[in-house]
Amino acid sequence: MKAQIAVLPGDGIGPEVVAEAVRCLEAVAARFGHQFSLAEAPVGAAAMDLTGEPLPASTLALARSADAVLFGAIGDPRYSDPALAVRPEQSILALRRELGLYANLRPAVTHPAVYHASPLRPELLAGVDILVVRELTGGIYFGEKTRTADSASDVCAYTTGEIERVVRLAAGLAAKRRRKLVSVDKANVLETSRLWRSVVNRVMAAEYPGVTVEHMYIDAATMHVLRRPADFDVIVTENMFGDILTDEVAMLPGSLGLCPSASLGDGRRGLYEPIHGSAPDIAGKGIANPFGTILSAAMLLRHSLGLDEEAAAIERAVARTLADGVLTPDLALRGSAAATTRCAGDAVVARLV
Ligand code: NAD
Repeated sequence: MKAQIAVLPGDGIGPEVVAEAVRCLEAVAARFGHQFSLAEAPVGAAAMDLTGEPLPASTLALARSADAVLFGAIGDPRYSDPALAVRPEQSILALRRELGLYANLRPAVTHPAVYHASPLRPELLAGVDILVVRELTGGIYFGEKTRTADSASDVCAYTTGEIERVVRLAAGLAAKRRRKLVSVDKANVLETSRLWRSVVNRVMAAEYPGVTVEHMYIDAATMHVLRRPADFDVIVTENMFGDILTDEVAMLPGSLGLCPSASLGDGRRGLYEPIHGSAPDIAGKGIANPFGTILSAAMLLRHSLGLDEEAAAIERAVARTLADGVLTPDLALRGSAAATTRCAGDAVVARLV
């Protein structure tokens, strides 16, 4: 197949890890007979240095015209003052808004070779394969805000339509996996959660009778994902609960550097990025873990291009690379030799079959 992929490496370790994911996409194209046209554009601080804007119009136009966007990371210590009017971090929010991306997918898959890097005991980590689907554009982060000298408020609002679309997306993904959906809310307290729960029940009964649904309060969910993570398949939740739960679940595999993500909307176009930031403390050293970005490229193949077999080939290659002990410093056992970013990318490409 032919596909256009916009590549936005961004700042810090972004370009280093994106380079390895691009090599994997090129290797997939060669092995499976596809033509991927990859076009690169600046974003974040790199774009501010060039144009003054964190998301230049030409970068947005490239992202809009592409079938999918591969994104690295943004953020730079020179622009870290939250009081600045223009900041690199604004680019990712603007991109998600402009591309209409309302669902954030964060998988957490554990690998025996790096159980030692996880804060959980190995017996809890076996077989963990969780996909959290977080609503990304509604809820308390985007509601009306007020502030006086001695009070403040943030409004949490959801419409039926906003809930339906993310629940359908999550249920569709669960239907192709282990057919178990856990919907996380706080329906004992919040009116938005009561609406959320009623929409979940209606949509699931009418459209996804083959997927089992369980409702769980957010406070209970934060405990259960640690106590029995292997029991979870797909979790769907609203924006703020999802923000917290996705970061908690990201601890299970053992390193921020291992975790990929996708942001999706209606249609197939999506934005794919590792969950970590620009990591200025290790930028330029060639030691960043590229697996999260490489696994984001696998998600790109699956969700935007419909190439399930190719996506699975990348995921298998990453699993085998880890099993063979090719570990970047964030994953390697203290005192053992660690792989560079480039070596880790080479190892995945060599195992792509
Ligand atoms: P960070 O994720 O960049 O780094 C946190 C820690 O994890 C650091 O010690 C870093 O070295 C390590 N780390 C991160 N990714 C790694 C990888 N691939 N391999 C090995 N180690 C890795 O978070 P931070 O330090 O809080 O933020 C740095 C900058 O990134 C800030 O400007 C922040 O705003 C930005 N940020 C951007 C995104 C994004 O691009 N979506 C996300 C989070 C933070």
